[in-house]
Amino acid sequence: MNYIHEIKYERHPNYEGLTNVEQQLVMNAQQAMNKAYAPYSKFKVGAALLLSNGTVVQGNNQENMAYPSGLCAERVALFHAGANHSDAEVVSIVIVAEGDLLKPNEIVSPCGACRQVMLETQRRQTSPYRIVLVGQKGEVLIFHSAEDLLPMAFGS
Ligand SMILES: [Zn+2]
Repeated sequence: MNYIHEIKYERHPNYEGLTNVEQQLVMNAQQAMNKAYAPYSKFKVGAALLLSNGTVVQGNNQENMAYPSGLCAERVALFHAGANHSDAEVVSIVIVAEGDLLKPNEIVSPCGACRQVMLETQRRQTSPYRIVLVGQKGEVLIFHSAEDLLPMAFGS
């Protein structure tokens, strides 16, 4: 018997599907992206989290000469939130990127390791959070749950 997993998301040509706060988060994520430490890949990623206590947390990729020692923007932001705002829940995460690794119309998508961390963050909460991926031309993908980004996740 064959089973099919569907990945549910919304696709918008612009920011119209975003809440006002998420539109602000896009700017926060871009700010973070511009400060990324990515001297090796030249691929800059920024993430901005809105927490339930109103705090905005920014993260960006932090590379290292010893490559595996670096970390993605999403996990930098999520781990910062876990360390400093453990009582708050994530409401939304916005992710942006730029660099030659991305084709002009391509929208950045979190790596597998970040998806696993995003999912566990959600499982520690009382409700799911929104994941917003923003392309370089302003196109937007919205996921309503971290579950949607990681079918058949480890530990499910
Ligand atoms: Zn990642």
